[in-house]
Amino acid sequence: VEDEQYLCSLIRTIPDFPAKGILFRDFIPVFADARGMDLLLEAFVRALPVKPEEFDYIAGLEARGFLLGTALARQLGKGFIAVRKAGKLPPKTVSQSYELEYGTATVEIEKNLVPEGSRILIVDDLIATGGTAWAAMKLFEEVGCTVAGFSFVMELDGLHGLDQLSHYPTSSLMVMP
Ligand code: IMP
Repeated sequence: VEDEQYLCSLIRTIPDFPAKGILFRDFIPVFADARGMDLLLEAFVRALPVKPEEFDYIAGLEARGFLLGTALARQLGKGFIAVRKAGKLPPKTVSQSYELEYGTATVEIEKNLVPEGSRILIVDDLIATGGTAWAAMKLFEEVGCTVAGFSFVMELDGLHGLDQLSHYPTSSLMVMP
């Protein structure tokens, strides 16, 4: 309980960022704190929705998913794949667009980076609407991989992000209003 409280104390909440009316949950202080990072990884591994032998790679969503995902990949002895925002990776890439509240966004992965048939665990710090995670899933399925599951630190309550991923094993460490 003390560890859990310590970890939660490192997650900041910032009102009206990046736009008015949005409560932004900020994980950067966790990554800045050695004990916090240890606790986060420990809890994250414990909560994984599938066993480590059931996936081959960890994919992280830009940008905090990179910090979490690479640390986790190193700990579990897996490779790491970056799911990037459009336009940052050299070709050849595959792209998937998804709906935002206003407009659309696009994510990409490199083609031919991982063998067809690889099993992927997708991780990120936070799931809100689930649009980004859904788009990442589509990318991996398009290149012939299977998604073994999704794992998040935090789930925003009321947005039903995990509903979009209900055909897959999922986990989140905490639900926040
Ligand atoms: P979704 O696609 O609506 O599920 O949004 C999830 C993506 O937006 C993730 O990559 C998150 O890191 C980012 N995101 C959305 N809201 C927040 C927040 O309050 N804090 C940190 N990241 C957020």
